[in-house]
Amino acid sequence: EAKRAGRNRVSYFTRSLQDDAERRMRLVADMHAAIEQAQFSLVYQPIVHIASGKVRKAEALIRWQHPERGHVSPADFIPIAEETGLILPIGDWVMRTGIKFARDLQARLGETVQISLNKSPVHLRNRKPGYPSVVELLAEYGVSGSLIAVEMTEGMLIEADEQTLQRLYALRDAGVQVSLDDFGTGYSSLSYLKKFDIDYLKIDQSFVRGLSAHSSERALCEAMIVMAHKLGIEVVAEGVETHEQLALLREAGCDYAQGYLFSRPLPAEHFEVWLRENG
Ligand code: C2E
Ligand code: MG
Ligand code: MG
Ligand code: MG
Repeated sequence: EAKRAGRNRVSYFTRSLQDDAERRMRLVADMHAAIEQAQFSLVYQPIVHIASGKVRKAEALIRWQHPERGHVSPADFIPIAEETGLILPIGDWVMRTGIKFARDLQARLGETVQISLNKSPVHLRNRKPGYPSVVELLAEYGVSGSLIAVEMTEGMLIEADEQTLQRLYALRDAGVQVSLDDFGTGYSSLSYLKKFDIDYLKIDQSFVRGLSAHSSERALCEAMIVMAHKLGIEVVAEGVETHEQLALLREAGCDYAQGYLFSRPLPAEHFEVWLRENG
């Protein structure tokens, strides 16, 4: 089954599972080269405030342009980067690039656009010499924590040890906001939201996809929004593609929406142009 699923999508992995180990090794070697040869880039997707239509937030997403294979999806290489420790140099590059972008954008626009950076739990947990924390990077670049947010998944919080918790608190003390990504796909324990003082909950796009007037997704989205609001947490809906989805989310009191309806994730220069025209 996994084999068939693999064949049906355009993927880095195209041959039989027997070549798995070899392909993984190639991918790992290619990722090393990718870091050295600047094959990674960040694209930015607007996050729209539903009530006002204003855009003061965006999510940064990594892209890998492989010299022979073309675009390799982060869904394919991030998990392997996490298993092999390569997430440390890659995550470090993502944080630095995103922080610098937030700083430069503010300087050029004269207003704050909060850049939301995806942070792997492995990256947060494994601290190694030579890889400064986000708080240290903010100091290095002279950037206020209010210019960025960090997106983490629920698994992160469930497995959090004391050290990880302290790092989360240090982030918060520096003014960095925290989003819980892909909400509803994991354990979805609302007690975690309160315990870790989360700022935003991102409803996973699997719920938004099926959103229609009489769907169970509608009831689930409404319930998540009501509960989040009762805990003082704002809600971002991911993967919003249609006006109908947006209308239902607005009715349910959802705070922010992100998705192809507004814009695909854009390269830095295009994002800035988009913002000047639509933000
Ligand atoms: P995510 O953080 O949940 O990101 C949302 C994904 O939904 C992105 O896929 C985005 O391009 C896609 N998306 C946005 N709007 C729509 C829409 O309207 N319809 C549909 N169908 N999709 C939409 P992407 O960029 O391929 O990233 C996939 C996942 O890879 C991310 O999920 C995140 O978990 C991970 N990832 C991406 N960039 C980074 C990064 O810099 N660091 C880390 N650690 N993980 C990353
Ligand atoms: Mg995300
Ligand atoms: Mg997500
Ligand atoms: Mg809060």
